[in-house]
Amino acid sequence: LSPESQNILSAYEWVTKLYHHLLRYTKDGKAGYQYFLDRGITDETIDVFQLGFAPNIKDFTAEFLKKKGFHQQILVKAGLLSMQEDNSVTDRFRGRVIFPIRNHLGKPIGFGGRTITDQEPKYLNSSESELFQKGRILYNFDQAKKHIRKQSEAVLFEGYMDVISAHQAGVKNGIATLGTSLTENQAKLLHRYVDTVIICYDADRAGLDATYKAAGALQKAGCHVKIANLREGMDPDSFIHQFGAEAFKDEVIKASHTFTSFYMQYVKKDFNLSLEADRIQYIEKVIEQLALIDSSVEREYYLKELSNEFDVSMESLNQEIQSQRENIS
Ligand code: ATP
Ligand code: MN
Ligand code: MN
Ligand code: MN
Repeated sequence: LSPESQNILSAYEWVTKLYHHLLRYTKDGKAGYQYFLDRGITDETIDVFQLGFAPNIKDFTAEFLKKKGFHQQILVKAGLLSMQEDNSVTDRFRGRVIFPIRNHLGKPIGFGGRTITDQEPKYLNSSESELFQKGRILYNFDQAKKHIRKQSEAVLFEGYMDVISAHQAGVKNGIATLGTSLTENQAKLLHRYVDTVIICYDADRAGLDATYKAAGALQKAGCHVKIANLREGMDPDSFIHQFGAEAFKDEVIKASHTFTSFYMQYVKKDFNLSLEADRIQYIEKVIEQLALIDSSVEREYYLKELSNEFDVSMESLNQEIQSQRENIS
């Protein structure tokens, strides 16, 4: 590590402690503490994730770090301070609850900050630096990896709050990207620790599209992918809040779908299934995917579903898939 990166690490360590202390024990952090309380987060969870609060004061952090002897320039690079147009420097995070983002060694290298007063943007992350590259890091990986190994499974979430609520509900093998789509680098990192990844993204349009993309990246890296069974409109955190930990484990995580079953639903969006021509195209598209499956039992299983749903004979579906498979090999 360059001396500058060492310096940045040290600054993040100080500020993580500062924000966490404020939230947990002081009047200045009360609003942040109340925010997590209202979202059902316990003291223990707050401590495990080192959650904090950055007060709505222009130069609170700047002053704190100045007294510690840090140079402003480096803190701007680190994404802790922002340079204004008149070259003055202010705190980057103000009036936000803070989610420290730690590297694989457990050292904070960046922050996610969520507004508690509906400011835009909802989430603000540290700016990218040599040390903090969103495409190379997974939120909570440092804590999750031993659970991921033990359970031979990882659960991939969309948001920080999903990881935290799931952890509190007893699902401790959860990780998340930092508001961006899963990169090849992150997929490879995961595959070094685990074969099976359950994708548990929000059950909305954006979440479904992101699920499809992440599944592709994971499969390319050699992972076996499953898709959590979250009902429409929910995100994992809201589900846990509404239905509880046991329901989340049993009905969402354990009841995960195969990728194929997800795919058969997902691609329906591209067709108007009330039209005959579209129905046929849809069936052909699904068969293309099924042709990639090596297990004949598994292929047969989904073909039967297609056969029932569209009233097409198993014979013709089987014929189609055989010719597709010959094309592949
Ligand atoms: P909450 O439950 O606190 O409202 P969420 O995690 O459900 O948040 P989503 O809108 O589903 O929020 O977004 C998922 C993730 O995407 C967030 O956790 C955050 O990392 C990232 N994100 C969301 N909004 C923004 C934004 N405006 N800028 C950058 N990243 C964002
Ligand atoms: Mn979302
Ligand atoms: Mn969400
Ligand atoms: Mn949410």
